[in-house]
Amino acid sequence: MLNAKKDLLGLPPHDVEAALAEHFVVRGQPSYRVEQVKKWVFEECVPDIAGMTNLPVAEREALDAAFSLVEPTADTVSRSSDGTVKHLWRLADGELVESVLIPTKNRLTLCISSQAGCAMGCTFCATGWAGFQRQLTSGEIVSQYRASQRWGFENGHGRISNIVYMGMGEPLTNRKALHPSLTILNQGYGVGARRITVSTVGVVPGILELAEREEQFRLAISLHAPESDLRSQLIPLEKRHSLEELMAALVRFDRAGGRRITFEYTMIRGINDAPRLAQALADLASTVDAFVNLIPYNPIPYQDWKASRGERIEEFRSVLEARGVSVAVRVPRGRDIDAACGQLRATRMTSGVSQTGGDPGNRRGPAKK
Ligand code: SF4
Repeated sequence: MLNAKKDLLGLPPHDVEAALAEHFVVRGQPSYRVEQVKKWVFEECVPDIAGMTNLPVAEREALDAAFSLVEPTADTVSRSSDGTVKHLWRLADGELVESVLIPTKNRLTLCISSQAGCAMGCTFCATGWAGFQRQLTSGEIVSQYRASQRWGFENGHGRISNIVYMGMGEPLTNRKALHPSLTILNQGYGVGARRITVSTVGVVPGILELAEREEQFRLAISLHAPESDLRSQLIPLEKRHSLEELMAALVRFDRAGGRRITFEYTMIRGINDAPRLAQALADLASTVDAFVNLIPYNPIPYQDWKASRGERIEEFRSVLEARGVSVAVRVPRGRDIDAACGQLRATRMTSGVSQTGGDPGNRRGPAKK
């Protein structure tokens, strides 16, 4: 069996430290080498081991033989007129994933992907149309943060303040990589747990697992419909984990204490914006004191739905507010650069530029968390 390299980006800090300590002891090196390397990894965010310039060349070579530090390369960088920046990253095996930097007045949010493609097939999202390619490793999730942060610094942005797992993929079906990546981003790179949000379409076992964690990571639920029949038309997972089961899990998550739950509700004209649904949405939000984001639908290829009209969105907002629910209307960012999840990758694949082997014949319509 090959002696696999340890991934410096995919291990929690204490595991990195232990592995480095063992490595340098065997090599007869002083113990301060461990801190030197940790600093390069977690503070300096160097893109490769060769960049650890305060290590002797022989030590860099030995480190490179025992450890990997692999970042994605930028296939495409798209900048929106509203400041949003989307990266299409090419991973080591050629697979493509997206991340989006979203600057606002007080924060810089990074939206990252947890899978290449997605198996959930939600009917309003661009990622699902090409199906699932593969899980990302924890290192590949973390590497989107590192590469985006470095790009941000080089292009006049500050530190990334918030991370949302709202890019390609359903993070709670990749829990093997999700959990270490949360630990690494929080403990290794210093992003506060309350500033990291995991978004799901309702993978109940994953929600319960997240509730068990000590850190107060936040949870966003792609709800999009407050009734089971309608929801199952938008989110196939509803047939496996019903709204009723989902709400029971959210009550448990809420009882775990101190963690904000957000409901994401994409408003699609004539599909999920009937006034009576606002009352049903208020009932659900009140149950777990959820914050509701109303998001005008962002049109995607292969689906001719339209965003709800402004008056209808305001009507929803009024009903929710009258019921005491905290609510905001979110303006979709980066519309001019296909910033909805999966759109840029989909565009690349349909343009024939992608080398990922995605099968356009497998398309099954739109999607987006
Ligand atoms: S909305 Fe999320 S879970 Fe659904 S298909 Fe898109 S990426 Fe997957």
